Amino acid sequence: MSSDKTMNTYKRMGLVLVRGSGSTVEDEEGKKYLDFTSGIGVNSLGHAHPKLVAAIAEQAGKIIHTCNYYQSREAIELSDALCARTGMDAVFLCNSGAEANEGAIKIARKCGETRGASTVVTLHGSFHGRTIATLAATGQDKFHEHFGPFPAGFAYVQAEDKAALDAVLDKSVCALMLEPIQGESGVLPLSAGYLRYAAKLCAERGILFIADEVQCGVGRTGSFLASSCAGIRPDIVTLAKGLAGGVPVGAVLARGEAATILKPGDHGTTFGGNPLAAAAGRVVLAELGASGFLEGVAKKGERILGTVLSWKHPAVIQARGAGLMIGIVVSVSPDKVKELCIAHGLLVLTAGSDVVRLLPPLVITDAEIDRGLAILRDVLDQAAKA
Ligand SMILES: *Cc1c(COP(=O)(O)O)cnc(C)c1O
Repeated sequence: MSSDKTMNTYKRMGLVLVRGSGSTVEDEEGKKYLDFTSGIGVNSLGHAHPKLVAAIAEQAGKIIHTCNYYQSREAIELSDALCARTGMDAVFLCNSGAEANEGAIKIARKCGETRGASTVVTLHGSFHGRTIATLAATGQDKFHEHFGPFPAGFAYVQAEDKAALDAVLDKSVCALMLEPIQGESGVLPLSAGYLRYAAKLCAERGILFIADEVQCGVGRTGSFLASSCAGIRPDIVTLAKGLAGGVPVGAVLARGEAATILKPGDHGTTFGGNPLAAAAGRVVLAELGASGFLEGVAKKGERILGTVLSWKHPAVIQARGAGLMIGIVVSVSPDKVKELCIAHGLLVLTAGSDVVRLLPPLVITDAEIDRGLAILRDVLDQAAKA
């Protein structure tokens, strides 16, 4: 095998995946794995979904890219479908979660400009991306090493602390940005009460409420948007990961003033909204819109949580999440669990310092769930003994 010249920015597992089908992937040696990661919540329709493959192939044969000075029918239709689904007014299509959050931050800064409100408040433990501005927005110190100086105008507040939120949301603030379920830091759902309180404060004070649903959105929790479970309507929602089933995409959804503040020349992207990604996104939205699909996601999530909790396993401290976004807090090393799972043909993720994170494809079957969980249970037994 040739040497690996890709930069060593990930703790890679030495696995080279070459193909997949549904919730199964296969490595170069032909070994199969049940995929409880969907590429960090990206392969929402699983691998090689026939409709997604056909749409991508068909679109590739028509037109892959046009510059954004021309309009693409696929981008119009995807944006339409997103607004119809969420009640938002307009969409900016881009290529990743970080880029969607950058767009949201720019919208918020411009909305606050005339009144001198420029601070974006985020939560401790949040994760908003890897660009310099979204690293600054990320409320975890470990992300603020090495790459400074960071842009000013970010403030952080403890999640679930209503008094602290009330105090920090002053006249200098243009937006509050948060993940309804914090993903990277350990699958931590915010309470509906806190989300509603935050939305109410923002509305009263003319502060934009930005929901970063890059990980928890697009049906992941069994609801198209996680924020709607709490009964809130953010001013801006950012999406990415699962939106095009694996093709790079991001989206900033906005309503009200936030939907119209950006004027020609204010923002842009070369690849964003390209017909290929948009065609893929349309398939994902259509599949998620099928009768019973999202209810099925919710049920599968309950099956996983119910099963894991029924073990009363000594290595399991807690299991939490919504739909197919699940965090299992373990007393053993999550990295060890991840490694042992690979050896037994199961791919899982970790999050935070003590969480095994499960983000299976939304199309996973009950039988696959049961098979994967049986492996996980054996692995937890082994890890607990070691
Ligand atoms: C993954 C993630 C991002 C960053 O998305 P990229 O596509 O990697 O830039 C931002 N916010 C949340 C909540 C995420 O989970």
